[in-house]
Amino acid sequence: IAEAHGISSLYMASDTSFSPRYDSSRVRSRLEWSCIMHTLKSKIIVTFTSVSLLIIVSLSILFNFSIDNIFKQYAFEQQKKQIEEIIIQVNEQYLEGTGLYDIDGLEVIGNAALQNGIIVHVQTINKEIDWDISRHKAEECKIVLQHAERNMHSRYPNFQGSYTEKRYDLTYNDNVTGYLTVGYYGPYSLDDNELMLINTLNRSLIGLGVIFLFIAIVLGVLITKNITTPITSVIQTSKKIAAGDYGTQTQESPNTKETAELIASVNAMSLALEKKEQQKKYITADVAHELRTPLNNLQSQMEAMIDKVWEPTTERLQSCYDEILRLIRIVLQLQELNRLESNFLQLEKSKFDFSELCESILYNFEIKAKQKDIRLINQLPAPAPVYGDLQCLKQCMVNLMSNAIKYTGREGTVIIRYQQVNNRILLQIQDTGEGIPNEDLPYLFERFYRVDISRSQKTGGMGIGLSITKAIVEAHGGTISVESHVNIGSTFTISLPKE
Ligand code: ADP
Repeated sequence: IAEAHGISSLYMASDTSFSPRYDSSRVRSRLEWSCIMHTLKSKIIVTFTSVSLLIIVSLSILFNFSIDNIFKQYAFEQQKKQIEEIIIQVNEQYLEGTGLYDIDGLEVIGNAALQNGIIVHVQTINKEIDWDISRHKAEECKIVLQHAERNMHSRYPNFQGSYTEKRYDLTYNDNVTGYLTVGYYGPYSLDDNELMLINTLNRSLIGLGVIFLFIAIVLGVLITKNITTPITSVIQTSKKIAAGDYGTQTQESPNTKETAELIASVNAMSLALEKKEQQKKYITADVAHELRTPLNNLQSQMEAMIDKVWEPTTERLQSCYDEILRLIRIVLQLQELNRLESNFLQLEKSKFDFSELCESILYNFEIKAKQKDIRLINQLPAPAPVYGDLQCLKQCMVNLMSNAIKYTGREGTVIIRYQQVNNRILLQIQDTGEGIPNEDLPYLFERFYRVDISRSQKTGGMGIGLSITKAIVEAHGGTISVESHVNIGSTFTISLPKE
Protein backbone atom coordinates (compact mmCIF):
# COMPACT_ATOMS: atom_id res chain seq x y z
CA ILE A 1 0.00 0.00 0.00
CA ALA A 2 2.81 2.30 1.00
CA GLU A 3 4.39 1.38 -2.27
CA ALA A 4 1.29 2.30 -4.17
CA HIS A 5 1.03 5.55 -2.21
CA GLY A 6 4.66 6.32 -2.93
CA ILE A 7 4.12 5.81 -6.58
CA SER A 8 0.94 7.83 -6.60
CA SER A 9 2.58 10.81 -4.92
CA LEU A 10 5.44 10.74 -7.39
CA TYR A 11 2.94 10.45 -10.16
CA MET A 12 0.87 13.36 -8.93
CA ALA A 13 3.90 15.53 -8.32
CA SER A 14 4.70 15.21 -12.00
CA ASP A 15 1.25 16.37 -13.08
CA THR A 16 2.50 19.66 -14.42
CA SER A 17 5.04 18.02 -16.71
CA PHE A 18 2.62 15.22 -17.61
CA SER A 19 5.50 12.72 -17.43
CA PRO A 20 5.07 10.22 -14.63
CA ARG A 21 8.28 9.27 -12.88
CA TYR A 22 8.20 5.70 -11.62
CA ASP A 23 11.07 4.86 -9.30
CA SER A 24 11.30 1.20 -10.22
CA SER A 25 14.67 0.58 -8.51
CA ARG A 26 13.21 1.73 -5.20
CA VAL A 27 10.26 -0.60 -5.63
CA ARG A 28 12.51 -3.48 -6.64
CA SER A 29 14.83 -3.11 -3.69
CA ARG A 30 11.86 -3.10 -1.31
CA LEU A 31 10.46 -6.21 -2.93
CA GLU A 32 13.82 -7.95 -2.61
CA TRP A 33 13.89 -6.97 1.03
CA SER A 34 10.40 -8.37 1.56
CA CYS A 35 11.55 -11.70 0.07
CA ILE A 36 14.35 -11.94 2.62
CA MET A 37 11.88 -11.43 5.43
CA HIS A 38 9.67 -14.25 6.60
CA THR A 39 6.16 -14.41 5.31
CA LEU A 40 3.42 -13.36 7.70
CA LYS A 41 1.94 -16.84 7.36
CA SER A 42 5.10 -18.67 8.48
CA LYS A 43 5.66 -16.14 11.26
CA ILE A 44 2.17 -16.57 12.69
CA ILE A 45 2.30 -20.38 12.41
CA VAL A 46 5.74 -20.57 14.04
CA THR A 47 4.72 -18.17 16.82
CA PHE A 48 1.41 -19.93 17.40
CA THR A 49 3.04 -23.37 17.48
CA SER A 50 5.89 -22.20 19.74
CA VAL A 51 3.48 -20.60 22.19
CA SER A 52 1.25 -23.69 22.18
CA LEU A 53 4.28 -25.96 22.65
CA LEU A 54 5.53 -23.80 25.49
CA ILE A 55 2.12 -23.88 27.21
CA ILE A 56 1.77 -27.64 26.74
CA VAL A 57 5.32 -28.37 27.99
CA SER A 58 4.90 -26.04 31.00
CA LEU A 59 1.55 -27.62 31.85
CA SER A 60 3.04 -31.11 31.48
CA ILE A 61 5.96 -30.28 33.80
CA LEU A 62 3.56 -28.74 36.32
CA PHE A 63 1.20 -31.68 36.08
CA ASN A 64 4.03 -34.18 36.37
CA PHE A 65 5.41 -32.42 39.38
CA SER A 66 1.95 -32.37 41.01
CA ILE A 67 1.37 -36.08 40.29
CA ASP A 68 4.72 -37.01 41.87
CA ASN A 69 3.93 -34.88 44.89
CA ILE A 70 0.45 -36.37 45.27
CA PHE A 71 1.84 -39.89 45.02
CA LYS A 72 4.63 -39.13 47.46
CA GLN A 73 2.06 -37.81 49.92
CA TYR A 74 -0.14 -40.83 49.29
CA ALA A 75 2.79 -43.25 49.83
CA PHE A 76 3.65 -41.63 53.17
CA GLU A 77 0.01 -41.79 54.31
CA GLN A 78 -0.33 -45.42 53.23
CA GLN A 79 2.85 -46.39 55.01
CA LYS A 80 1.72 -44.64 58.18
CA LYS A 81 -1.65 -46.41 58.05
CA GLN A 82 -0.07 -49.79 57.42
CA ILE A 83 2.32 -49.39 60.34
CA GLU A 84 -0.53 -48.27 62.62
CA GLU A 85 -2.51 -51.32 61.50
CA ILE A 86 0.49 -53.61 62.17
CA ILE A 87 0.91 -52.12 65.68
CA ILE A 88 -2.79 -52.78 66.46
CA GLN A 89 -2.61 -56.30 65.03
CA VAL A 90 0.61 -57.14 66.93
CA ASN A 91 -0.90 -55.76 70.17
CA GLU A 92 -3.84 -58.08 69.65
CA GLN A 93 -1.45 -61.04 69.63
CA TYR A 94 -0.40 -60.32 73.24
CA LEU A 95 -1.12 -63.21 75.58
CA GLU A 96 -2.03 -61.62 78.90
CA GLY A 97 -1.34 -64.61 81.12
CA THR A 98 2.18 -65.39 79.80
CA GLY A 99 3.29 -61.89 78.86
CA LEU A 100 4.26 -63.32 75.45
CA TYR A 101 2.89 -62.92 71.88
CA ASP A 102 1.16 -65.51 69.73
CA ILE A 103 3.90 -66.56 67.33
CA ASP A 104 1.45 -67.94 64.72
CA GLY A 105 -0.37 -64.64 64.72
CA LEU A 106 2.90 -62.74 64.38
CA GLU A 107 3.81 -64.94 61.45
CA VAL A 108 0.56 -64.13 59.61
CA ILE A 109 1.00 -60.40 60.32
CA GLY A 110 4.68 -60.48 59.29
CA ASN A 111 3.91 -62.28 56.02
CA ALA A 112 1.10 -59.90 55.17
CA ALA A 113 3.36 -56.88 55.98
CA LEU A 114 6.13 -58.33 53.81
CA GLN A 115 3.71 -58.35 50.84
CA ASN A 116 3.52 -54.58 51.36
CA GLY A 117 7.30 -54.19 51.58
CA ILE A 118 7.44 -53.95 55.42
CA ILE A 119 9.77 -56.13 57.48
CA VAL A 120 8.43 -56.80 60.97
CA HIS A 121 10.51 -57.52 64.06
CA VAL A 122 8.77 -58.08 67.44
CA GLN A 123 10.52 -58.26 70.79
CA THR A 124 9.15 -58.57 74.30
CA ILE A 125 10.78 -56.39 76.97
CA ASN A 126 12.74 -59.23 78.44
CA LYS A 127 13.51 -60.60 74.98
CA GLU A 128 11.71 -63.83 75.68
CA ILE A 129 10.26 -63.44 72.28
CA ASP A 130 12.45 -62.06 69.53
CA TRP A 131 10.57 -62.75 66.32
CA ASP A 132 12.16 -61.25 63.20
CA ILE A 133 10.77 -62.14 59.73
CA SER A 134 14.11 -61.33 58.14
CA ARG A 135 15.52 -64.26 60.03
CA HIS A 136 12.81 -66.63 58.82
CA LYS A 137 12.48 -65.34 55.28
CA ALA A 138 15.79 -63.64 54.66
CA GLU A 139 15.74 -64.23 50.89
CA GLU A 140 12.17 -62.96 50.44
CA CYS A 141 12.92 -59.86 52.52
CA LYS A 142 15.91 -59.10 50.35
CA ILE A 143 13.84 -59.56 47.17
CA VAL A 144 11.09 -57.28 48.49
CA LEU A 145 13.57 -54.52 49.40
CA GLN A 146 15.40 -54.83 46.06
CA HIS A 147 12.08 -54.74 44.23
CA ALA A 148 11.09 -51.52 46.05
CA GLU A 149 14.48 -49.98 45.22
CA ARG A 150 14.16 -51.00 41.56
CA ASN A 151 10.66 -49.57 41.39
CA MET A 152 11.77 -46.23 42.78
CA HIS A 153 14.83 -46.01 40.54
CA SER A 154 12.83 -46.90 37.47
CA ARG A 155 10.65 -43.85 38.09
CA TYR A 156 13.18 -41.53 39.75
CA PRO A 157 16.72 -42.45 38.61
CA ASN A 158 18.29 -40.12 41.18
CA PHE A 159 16.12 -41.26 44.08
CA GLN A 160 18.11 -41.18 47.33
CA GLY A 161 16.62 -44.16 49.16
CA SER A 162 17.93 -46.77 51.60
CA TYR A 163 16.75 -49.37 54.10
CA THR A 164 14.99 -47.51 56.93
CA GLU A 165 13.93 -48.79 60.36
CA LYS A 166 11.52 -47.37 62.93
CA ARG A 167 10.82 -48.67 66.43
CA TYR A 168 7.46 -48.48 68.22
CA ASP A 169 6.38 -49.48 71.77
CA LEU A 170 3.90 -52.31 72.09
CA THR A 171 1.49 -51.74 74.97
CA TYR A 172 -1.17 -53.60 76.85
CA ASN A 173 -3.39 -51.61 79.27
CA ASP A 174 -1.00 -48.69 78.93
CA ASN A 175 2.00 -50.81 79.96
CA VAL A 176 4.86 -51.33 77.53
CA THR A 177 4.95 -55.02 76.77
CA GLY A 178 7.45 -55.07 73.94
CA TYR A 179 8.85 -53.38 70.87
CA LEU A 180 7.94 -53.48 67.23
CA THR A 181 10.60 -52.61 64.67
CA VAL A 182 9.44 -52.04 61.09
CA GLY A 183 11.91 -51.86 58.26
CA TYR A 184 11.25 -50.76 54.68
CA TYR A 185 12.88 -49.16 51.68
CA GLY A 186 12.45 -45.44 52.38
CA PRO A 187 11.88 -42.65 52.97
CA TYR A 188 8.92 -43.89 50.92
CA SER A 189 8.31 -46.28 48.07
CA LEU A 190 5.66 -46.95 45.47
CA ASP A 191 4.29 -50.38 44.77
CA ASP A 192 3.76 -51.88 41.30
CA ASN A 193 0.16 -50.67 41.00
CA GLU A 194 0.97 -47.12 42.01
CA LEU A 195 3.91 -47.06 39.65
CA MET A 196 1.74 -48.38 36.83
CA LEU A 197 -0.85 -45.69 37.54
CA ILE A 198 1.78 -42.93 37.45
CA ASN A 199 3.23 -44.25 34.20
CA THR A 200 -0.22 -44.56 32.63
CA LEU A 201 -1.07 -41.02 33.68
CA ASN A 202 2.21 -39.81 32.20
CA ARG A 203 1.64 -41.59 28.94
CA SER A 204 -1.88 -40.14 28.73
CA LEU A 205 -0.43 -36.72 29.40
CA ILE A 206 2.09 -37.07 26.59
CA GLY A 207 -0.68 -38.34 24.31
CA LEU A 208 -2.90 -35.40 25.25
CA GLY A 209 0.01 -33.01 24.72
CA VAL A 210 0.60 -34.37 21.21
CA ILE A 211 -3.13 -34.14 20.42
CA PHE A 212 -3.29 -30.56 21.74
CA LEU A 213 -0.19 -29.60 19.79
CA PHE A 214 -1.71 -31.05 16.64
CA ILE A 215 -4.97 -29.16 17.29
CA ALA A 216 -2.95 -25.98 17.98
CA ILE A 217 -1.06 -26.35 14.69
CA VAL A 218 -4.26 -27.01 12.73
CA LEU A 219 -5.94 -24.04 14.45
CA GLY A 220 -2.83 -21.91 13.79
CA VAL A 221 -2.90 -22.78 10.10
CA LEU A 222 -6.64 -22.04 9.88
CA ILE A 223 -6.35 -18.73 11.75
CA THR A 224 -3.31 -17.73 9.70
CA LYS A 225 -5.13 -18.57 6.50
CA ASN A 226 -8.05 -16.50 7.70
CA ILE A 227 -5.80 -13.53 8.44
CA THR A 228 -3.45 -13.73 5.49
CA THR A 229 -5.87 -14.54 2.67
CA PRO A 230 -7.39 -11.04 2.57
CA ILE A 231 -3.94 -9.49 3.06
CA THR A 232 -2.52 -11.55 0.18
CA SER A 233 -5.44 -10.40 -1.89
CA VAL A 234 -4.74 -6.77 -0.96
CA ILE A 235 -1.06 -7.28 -1.88
CA GLN A 236 -2.10 -8.58 -5.31
CA THR A 237 -4.34 -5.54 -5.77
CA SER A 238 -1.56 -3.18 -4.63
CA LYS A 239 0.85 -4.78 -7.10
CA LYS A 240 -1.66 -4.28 -9.89
CA ILE A 241 -2.15 -0.65 -8.81
CA ALA A 242 1.63 -0.19 -8.67
CA ALA A 243 1.80 -1.57 -12.21
CA GLY A 244 -0.64 1.15 -13.28
CA ASP A 245 -3.84 -0.90 -13.29
CA TYR A 246 -5.81 1.74 -11.39
CA GLY A 247 -9.36 0.96 -10.36
CA THR A 248 -8.56 -2.70 -9.52
CA GLN A 249 -10.62 -3.79 -6.51
CA THR A 250 -10.03 -6.44 -3.86
CA GLN A 251 -13.05 -8.72 -3.90
CA GLU A 252 -12.03 -10.77 -0.83
CA SER A 253 -14.65 -10.61 1.92
CA PRO A 254 -13.00 -9.32 5.10
CA ASN A 255 -13.19 -11.27 8.36
CA THR A 256 -11.87 -8.66 10.78
CA LYS A 257 -12.43 -4.96 11.27
CA GLU A 258 -8.80 -4.21 10.40
CA THR A 259 -8.79 -6.19 7.15
CA ALA A 260 -12.16 -4.65 6.26
CA GLU A 261 -10.60 -1.19 6.71
CA LEU A 262 -7.47 -2.22 4.83
CA ILE A 263 -9.47 -3.57 1.88
CA ALA A 264 -11.79 -0.55 1.92
CA SER A 265 -8.91 1.94 1.97
CA VAL A 266 -6.94 0.16 -0.77
CA ASN A 267 -10.08 -0.08 -2.89
CA ALA A 268 -10.81 3.59 -2.27
CA MET A 269 -7.20 4.49 -3.08
CA SER A 270 -7.40 2.47 -6.28
CA LEU A 271 -10.58 4.27 -7.35
CA ALA A 272 -9.08 7.65 -6.41
CA LEU A 273 -5.99 6.87 -8.50
CA GLU A 274 -8.19 5.80 -11.39
CA LYS A 275 -10.11 9.04 -11.11
CA LYS A 276 -6.84 11.02 -10.94
CA GLU A 277 -5.53 9.20 -13.98
CA GLN A 278 -8.70 10.08 -15.87
CA GLN A 279 -8.36 13.66 -14.59
CA LYS A 280 -4.87 13.81 -15.97
CA LYS A 281 -6.05 12.65 -19.37
CA TYR A 282 -8.86 15.20 -19.26
CA ILE A 283 -6.40 17.94 -18.23
CA THR A 284 -4.27 17.39 -21.33
CA ALA A 285 -7.36 17.27 -23.51
CA ASP A 286 -8.90 20.29 -21.74
CA VAL A 287 -5.82 22.49 -21.97
CA ALA A 288 -5.43 21.55 -25.63
CA HIS A 289 -9.10 22.27 -26.22
CA GLU A 290 -9.09 25.55 -24.32
CA LEU A 291 -6.06 26.77 -26.24
CA ARG A 292 -7.18 25.40 -29.59
CA THR A 293 -10.51 27.26 -29.75
CA PRO A 294 -9.12 30.82 -29.46
CA LEU A 295 -6.09 29.88 -31.59
CA ASN A 296 -8.36 28.46 -34.35
CA ASN A 297 -10.49 31.58 -34.25
CA LEU A 298 -7.41 33.77 -34.48
CA GLN A 299 -5.94 31.66 -37.28
CA SER A 300 -9.07 31.72 -39.44
CA GLN A 301 -9.66 35.45 -38.88
CA MET A 302 -6.04 36.34 -39.62
CA GLU A 303 -5.97 34.14 -42.73
CA ALA A 304 -9.14 35.76 -44.01
CA MET A 305 -7.65 39.21 -43.45
CA ILE A 306 -4.27 38.30 -45.02
CA ASP A 307 -6.03 36.78 -48.05
CA LYS A 308 -8.03 40.02 -48.25
CA VAL A 309 -11.27 38.04 -47.88
CA TRP A 310 -12.09 40.25 -44.87
CA GLU A 311 -11.24 43.86 -44.34
CA PRO A 312 -9.16 44.36 -41.14
CA THR A 313 -11.91 46.45 -39.52
CA THR A 314 -11.72 47.66 -35.91
CA GLU A 315 -14.46 45.12 -34.96
CA ARG A 316 -12.52 42.22 -36.48
CA LEU A 317 -9.29 43.34 -34.84
CA GLN A 318 -11.20 43.71 -31.56
CA SER A 319 -12.50 40.12 -31.93
CA CYS A 320 -8.91 38.89 -32.47
CA TYR A 321 -7.78 40.91 -29.50
CA ASP A 322 -10.54 39.30 -27.34
CA GLU A 323 -9.31 35.86 -28.33
CA ILE A 324 -5.76 36.86 -27.38
CA LEU A 325 -7.10 38.11 -24.03
CA ARG A 326 -8.82 34.74 -23.51
CA LEU A 327 -5.57 32.94 -24.22
CA ILE A 328 -3.72 35.22 -21.83
CA ARG A 329 -6.40 34.62 -19.15
CA ILE A 330 -6.02 30.85 -19.46
CA VAL A 331 -2.23 31.02 -19.30
CA LEU A 332 -2.38 33.43 -16.36
CA GLN A 333 -4.77 31.14 -14.49
CA LEU A 334 -2.47 28.17 -15.06
CA GLN A 335 0.51 30.21 -13.97
CA GLU A 336 -1.34 31.45 -10.90
CA LEU A 337 -2.32 27.94 -9.88
CA ASN A 338 1.20 26.71 -10.40
CA ARG A 339 2.53 29.55 -8.25
CA LEU A 340 0.02 28.86 -5.46
CA GLU A 341 0.59 25.14 -5.48
CA SER A 342 4.37 25.49 -5.58
CA ASN A 343 4.27 27.22 -2.17
CA PHE A 344 5.61 30.46 -3.61
CA LEU A 345 2.70 32.33 -2.11
CA GLN A 346 3.92 35.24 0.06
CA LEU A 347 0.98 36.42 2.10
CA GLU A 348 0.81 40.05 3.16
CA LYS A 349 -1.45 39.71 6.16
CA SER A 350 -3.27 42.59 7.81
CA LYS A 351 -6.46 43.13 9.76
CA PHE A 352 -9.25 44.45 7.51
CA ASP A 353 -13.01 44.74 7.46
CA PHE A 354 -14.51 41.91 5.50
CA SER A 355 -17.83 43.71 5.00
CA GLU A 356 -16.04 46.54 3.19
CA LEU A 357 -14.30 44.02 0.93
CA CYS A 358 -17.58 42.25 0.18
CA GLU A 359 -19.39 45.47 -0.58
CA SER A 360 -17.04 46.18 -3.46
CA ILE A 361 -17.34 42.56 -4.66
CA LEU A 362 -21.14 42.68 -4.55
CA TYR A 363 -21.01 45.98 -6.40
CA ASN A 364 -18.88 44.41 -9.15
CA PHE A 365 -21.24 41.45 -9.56
CA GLU A 366 -24.40 43.54 -9.52
CA ILE A 367 -24.74 43.76 -13.29
CA LYS A 368 -24.15 40.04 -13.84
CA ALA A 369 -26.69 39.20 -11.12
CA LYS A 370 -29.25 41.59 -12.57
CA GLN A 371 -28.93 39.96 -15.99
CA LYS A 372 -30.25 36.74 -14.43
CA ASP A 373 -32.54 38.42 -11.89
CA ILE A 374 -30.48 36.94 -9.08
CA ARG A 375 -30.94 38.48 -5.62
CA LEU A 376 -27.67 39.24 -3.85
CA ILE A 377 -28.14 39.20 -0.07
CA ASN A 378 -25.51 40.64 2.22
CA GLN A 379 -25.61 39.15 5.73
CA LEU A 380 -22.45 40.74 7.03
CA PRO A 381 -22.11 42.49 10.35
CA ALA A 382 -20.17 45.75 10.38
CA PRO A 383 -17.38 45.62 11.19
CA ALA A 384 -16.46 42.02 10.30
CA PRO A 385 -12.78 41.78 11.13
CA VAL A 386 -10.59 39.32 9.25
CA TYR A 387 -6.84 38.81 9.54
CA GLY A 388 -5.31 37.79 6.23
CA ASP A 389 -4.05 38.83 2.81
CA LEU A 390 -6.70 41.21 1.47
CA GLN A 391 -5.95 40.69 -2.21
CA CYS A 392 -5.76 36.90 -1.95
CA LEU A 393 -8.96 36.61 0.08
CA LYS A 394 -10.66 38.98 -2.37
CA GLN A 395 -9.69 36.61 -5.15
CA CYS A 396 -11.26 33.71 -3.20
CA MET A 397 -14.51 35.57 -2.71
CA VAL A 398 -14.56 36.64 -6.38
CA ASN A 399 -14.09 33.00 -7.44
CA LEU A 400 -16.88 31.74 -5.16
CA MET A 401 -19.21 34.61 -6.04
CA SER A 402 -18.56 34.20 -9.75
CA ASN A 403 -19.35 30.44 -9.50
CA ALA A 404 -22.48 31.10 -7.41
CA ILE A 405 -23.84 33.45 -10.07
CA LYS A 406 -22.61 31.25 -12.94
CA TYR A 407 -24.30 28.10 -11.62
CA THR A 408 -27.53 29.70 -10.31
CA GLY A 409 -30.52 29.92 -12.59
CA ARG A 410 -32.78 32.90 -13.17
CA GLU A 411 -34.40 34.51 -10.13
CA GLY A 412 -32.19 32.63 -7.75
CA THR A 413 -30.56 33.94 -4.59
CA VAL A 414 -26.93 34.28 -3.50
CA ILE A 415 -26.19 35.02 0.15
CA ILE A 416 -22.86 36.10 1.59
CA ARG A 417 -22.31 35.51 5.34
CA TYR A 418 -19.75 36.15 8.06
CA GLN A 419 -19.71 34.35 11.44
CA GLN A 420 -17.34 34.02 14.37
CA VAL A 421 -17.29 30.54 15.89
CA ASN A 422 -14.87 29.98 18.78
CA ASN A 423 -11.45 30.98 17.45
CA ARG A 424 -12.41 30.82 13.82
CA ILE A 425 -14.05 33.01 11.25
CA LEU A 426 -16.49 31.46 8.79
CA LEU A 427 -17.07 33.11 5.45
CA GLN A 428 -19.96 31.60 3.51
CA ILE A 429 -21.41 31.96 0.06
CA GLN A 430 -24.71 30.21 -0.40
CA ASP A 431 -26.67 29.91 -3.62
CA THR A 432 -29.93 28.39 -4.77
CA GLY A 433 -28.31 27.05 -7.94
CA GLU A 434 -28.19 23.69 -9.62
CA GLY A 435 -26.06 22.10 -6.88
CA ILE A 436 -23.31 19.49 -7.18
CA PRO A 437 -23.86 15.70 -7.18
CA ASN A 438 -22.53 13.92 -4.09
CA GLU A 439 -20.04 11.79 -6.04
CA ASP A 440 -18.30 14.93 -7.36
CA LEU A 441 -17.89 16.65 -3.99
CA PRO A 442 -14.60 14.91 -2.96
CA TYR A 443 -12.88 16.05 -6.17
CA LEU A 444 -14.36 19.51 -6.46
CA PHE A 445 -11.27 21.37 -5.26
CA GLU A 446 -8.90 19.48 -7.52
CA ARG A 447 -7.53 21.44 -10.40
CA PHE A 448 -9.30 21.10 -13.73
CA TYR A 449 -12.16 19.24 -12.06
CA ARG A 450 -15.44 20.14 -13.60
CA VAL A 451 -18.73 18.56 -12.63
CA ASP A 452 -20.24 18.74 -16.04
CA ILE A 453 -17.62 19.44 -18.67
CA SER A 454 -20.04 20.62 -21.36
CA ARG A 455 -21.78 22.89 -18.84
CA SER A 456 -18.50 24.39 -17.66
CA GLN A 457 -17.28 24.95 -21.18
CA LYS A 458 -20.47 26.87 -21.85
CA THR A 459 -19.83 28.99 -18.79
CA GLY A 460 -16.19 29.37 -19.80
CA GLY A 461 -14.75 27.61 -16.74
CA MET A 462 -11.63 25.48 -16.75
CA GLY A 463 -12.01 23.98 -13.27
CA ILE A 464 -9.17 26.04 -11.81
CA GLY A 465 -11.03 28.61 -9.70
CA LEU A 466 -11.75 26.36 -6.73
CA SER A 467 -8.19 24.94 -6.70
CA ILE A 468 -6.84 28.49 -6.53
CA THR A 469 -9.30 29.31 -3.73
CA LYS A 470 -8.33 26.21 -1.79
CA ALA A 471 -4.59 26.93 -2.15
CA ILE A 472 -5.07 30.49 -0.83
CA VAL A 473 -7.26 29.37 2.09
CA GLU A 474 -4.77 26.68 3.08
CA ALA A 475 -1.90 29.16 2.90
CA HIS A 476 -3.88 31.12 5.56
CA GLY A 477 -4.04 27.98 7.75
CA GLY A 478 -7.73 27.66 6.94
CA THR A 479 -10.02 25.11 5.35
CA ILE A 480 -12.66 25.21 2.67
CA SER A 481 -15.69 22.93 2.50
CA VAL A 482 -18.86 22.60 0.51
CA GLU A 483 -22.34 21.35 1.21
CA SER A 484 -24.50 20.87 -1.80
CA HIS A 485 -27.77 19.33 -2.94
CA VAL A 486 -28.69 18.94 -6.60
CA ASN A 487 -31.35 21.43 -7.68
CA ILE A 488 -31.42 23.02 -4.22
CA GLY A 489 -28.11 24.82 -4.05
CA SER A 490 -24.59 24.91 -2.65
CA THR A 491 -22.91 26.50 0.35
CA PHE A 492 -19.15 27.07 0.28
CA THR A 493 -17.60 27.75 3.69
CA ILE A 494 -14.14 29.18 4.26
CA SER A 495 -12.93 28.71 7.82
CA LEU A 496 -10.00 30.94 8.85
CA PRO A 497 -8.16 31.25 12.13
CA LYS A 498 -9.13 34.48 13.91
CA GLU A 499 -5.55 35.65 14.17
P1 ADP B 1 -14.83 26.60 -13.22
O1 ADP B 1 -13.91 27.67 -13.67
O2 ADP B 1 -15.05 25.50 -14.21
O3 ADP B 1 -16.10 27.13 -12.65
P2 ADP B 1 -14.10 25.95 -10.54
O4 ADP B 1 -12.87 25.31 -10.00
O5 ADP B 1 -14.44 27.28 -10.03
O6 ADP B 1 -13.99 25.89 -12.09
O7 ADP B 1 -15.29 24.96 -10.24
C1 ADP B 1 -15.17 23.59 -10.51
C2 ADP B 1 -16.51 22.97 -10.81
O8 ADP B 1 -17.31 23.02 -9.66
C3 ADP B 1 -17.29 23.76 -11.84
O9 ADP B 1 -17.02 23.23 -13.12
C4 ADP B 1 -18.72 23.52 -11.45
O10 ADP B 1 -19.19 22.37 -12.11
C5 ADP B 1 -18.66 23.23 -9.97
N1 ADP B 1 -19.14 24.38 -9.15
C6 ADP B 1 -18.38 25.31 -8.54
N2 ADP B 1 -19.14 26.16 -7.84
C7 ADP B 1 -20.41 25.75 -8.02
C8 ADP B 1 -21.68 26.23 -7.55
N3 ADP B 1 -21.78 27.30 -6.78
N4 ADP B 1 -22.79 25.56 -7.95
C9 ADP B 1 -22.71 24.47 -8.74
N5 ADP B 1 -21.55 23.96 -9.20
C10 ADP B 1 -20.42 24.61 -8.87
